[in-house]
Amino acid sequence: MLEVDDVTIAIVNYSCLLGAWLFWGAIGYFIATKRGIRGITGISLSILLGPIGWLIVGVFMRSRLRQCPHCAERVKEEAKVCKHCGRDLPPKLA
Ligand SMILES: [Zn+2]
Repeated sequence: MLEVDDVTIAIVNYSCLLGAWLFWGAIGYFIATKRGIRGITGISLSILLGPIGWLIVGVFMRSRLRQCPHCAERVKEEAKVCKHCGRDLPPKLA
């Protein structure tokens, strides 16, 4: 028979799991956006794989950022104009 306490414990466990997922997802999002990868990719991998997802996003996925040759700031690979110094960037290297 299901006691009230069992239900409470189940709800608390479920909330913890949900909280952990949100926490993992937030970290994944942070790592992904830092490396110029879409946030949703970081969130999905983190929720599915946990810390392994962080590792994939943080280490194994190729960063989509490159360095501006004029001001040395990091800009997106696809960018044609640097958002920091406003100068034209050379075309993406293959
Ligand atoms: Zn620049």
